[in-house]
Amino acid sequence: MDVIEVESFATGQWIAPGADAQLVASAVTGDTVARVGGSRLDFGAMLDYAKCVGGPHLRSMTFHDRARMLKALALYLSDHKQPLYDLSFSTGATQKDHLIDVDGGIGATFVFASKGRREMPDALVHLDGPVEQLSRNGTFLGRHIAVPKRGVAIHINAFNFPVWGMLEKLAPTLLAGMPAIIKPATSSAYVAELAFRKMLDSGLLPDGAIQLVSGSTGNLLDCLDGQDIVSFTGSASTAVKLKATHSILEGSVPFIAEQDSLNAAVLGADANPGEPEFDLFIKEATREITVKAGQKCTAMRRLIVPEAQVQAVIESLSKRLESIRIGDPRDERTQMGALISRNQLGDVLEKADLIAAEAERVCGDPMELSVQGADASKGAFLPPMLFHCADPDTASTLHATEAFGPVSTVMGYRDAAHAAALANRGDGSLVASVFTRCGDIARELALETAAHHGRLYFNNRDSAAEATGHGSPLPHMVHGGPGRAGGGEEQGGVRGVMHYMQRTAIQGSPDILTAVGGPWVPGSVETNAAEHPFRRRFGDLKIGETIHTAKREITSEDISHFAEFTGDRFYAHLDEEAAAANPFFPGRVAHGYLLLSFAAGLFVEPSPGPVLANTGLDSLRFMQPVVPGDQIGVRLTVKQKTKRNEDYGEVRWHVTLTNQKEEVCAEYELLTMVAY
Ligand code: NAP
Repeated sequence: MDVIEVESFATGQWIAPGADAQLVASAVTGDTVARVGGSRLDFGAMLDYAKCVGGPHLRSMTFHDRARMLKALALYLSDHKQPLYDLSFSTGATQKDHLIDVDGGIGATFVFASKGRREMPDALVHLDGPVEQLSRNGTFLGRHIAVPKRGVAIHINAFNFPVWGMLEKLAPTLLAGMPAIIKPATSSAYVAELAFRKMLDSGLLPDGAIQLVSGSTGNLLDCLDGQDIVSFTGSASTAVKLKATHSILEGSVPFIAEQDSLNAAVLGADANPGEPEFDLFIKEATREITVKAGQKCTAMRRLIVPEAQVQAVIESLSKRLESIRIGDPRDERTQMGALISRNQLGDVLEKADLIAAEAERVCGDPMELSVQGADASKGAFLPPMLFHCADPDTASTLHATEAFGPVSTVMGYRDAAHAAALANRGDGSLVASVFTRCGDIARELALETAAHHGRLYFNNRDSAAEATGHGSPLPHMVHGGPGRAGGGEEQGGVRGVMHYMQRTAIQGSPDILTAVGGPWVPGSVETNAAEHPFRRRFGDLKIGETIHTAKREITSEDISHFAEFTGDRFYAHLDEEAAAANPFFPGRVAHGYLLLSFAAGLFVEPSPGPVLANTGLDSLRFMQPVVPGDQIGVRLTVKQKTKRNEDYGEVRWHVTLTNQKEEVCAEYELLTMVAY
């Protein structure tokens, strides 16, 4: 295989590595596979290009435009993933590992695309939370909006997942509307560069949206200001160094850090050998130790098991680990490939020696390594290594030493409080898992450990078939952790997008809030439509367009009829005396659902027209009881419009039911699909 010249992509140009580029060796053969870095990049120009070209392009698109772009990008990458698989073998990864990296990254992009369309508006401004009532009469209100930051997102990624690591940061960044400069780790930069090329080849991203730094970041971080953001994944020591950059401190540049982590897995006291939870624990621990040869930030590093089960766990787990076939990752029989480099191998052995000072090795001697289909002396191969710590309370190094490879330590616990205390010794972790079917154990461990962990993963026989795995960060759920794990929080759906936006409090009159935010705010000007709004097509409806219906009297016969017709004979609707004894009601009251039905009867335009379907209602509140003799009327206002496709869009209506005294009896948002 020819040596790959890993290029950078700056200000719209590909730039070859320089004469003093770093050589990267294959994890499997030790041969040189790539040259990375050493080129002269003008980082100031790259930042300007992102700010002046990429940013404006992205910000001219709505959240839905960008979500559609991400979906198209994910589809394009899905169609072009084979070359990424082929190349990734040289990093030591097996086909199963590629699924996590390549398919996992594409999957995360799909999820952000979908969340962008479902949970963010087809607009330039994202609304964060409801309108706040800041004044007695409602003429001065507040609400929070979020807009894309005007700078550049600098993504610094770890070596272990060159594709997933890039896409899980890029998808929320682009969805937010920020351009990115991506710096992959040197040792797997050739895979990241290929994935980057595929994204450019797709032609889907606007100019300036993404740039790539292969090799050193030079003075890039020195040029940042408060509109920029750094999102870093890697070791705690690098994070500390980078966070301390003067411009980052001085400019209050947000720095998201995803660092290393001494994740724990707890075997519940109810999960004895023979129980499905015991087997699940052994199965998942085997997977966590061997997938990606243990080079996973979320891998189970500490296995915390009831003291009575220590021997059983060691025996079962050792048996599984000893049967793992190690070797050439291209061979589909291989279950564990190589580490990224011989350097990494050396680092893991050093860390394993530190752990060995406090724990006994019970499985996996590197001196007795058996490698199939590759030369163990040239590649970066290690066996899965299991240690047992007999005294985890006095141990300290093993709770603080991340051997970033196939290494884990078993330790016994006395009771749930002790298990939690040991899990928390990681000083802040990305994830802890608990294998139990007992709700009390789960609850106690959750209460005791949640503050120290970014994610808690519970698995048992009921969830096993569909559980996503201890080690899999999901784009829907937050990924990050306190303390040692970096204090960062990525993914988590729209939460992850918010990092790349500025949240701003907006205060003003209802009309100002409507003008700035988009959706109609109660109290804003209403425009009275010349014709019934249900007769108007999606494109013609205007925000704030309103109808007020005639009033309808509610009779006791209506209430009795509704009770008999539906079977809802709750006493408050039928028994005057019992209803009057209820602190909420003056006497017999109308059913809430009767009021909703009458409201529809008042505002619906019956003949066929552009309104296609009622798809639900949100935020329903009954505020004032309606008694026989009351007269209710409805105000129906176009609150928000969201285009769904070329044929129709969703119209969200603000609906208010009032009585004859103009008191609000009920309020809700009605959702309809309206033809274009
Ligand atoms: P690393 O050595 O800390 O490097 C991380 C990134 O920082 C690489 O891109 C590296 O580039 C870059 N970097 C290093 N020094 C830099 C500097 N002075 N200026 C700018 N960039 C610099 O970590 P790694 O070995 O790649 O990854 C392994 C570690 O990452 C493990 O500790 C693992 O736990 C952690 N990790 C955490 C997560 C998570 O989500 N929490 C995920 C994956 C990995 P070069 O490669 O060019 O040096």
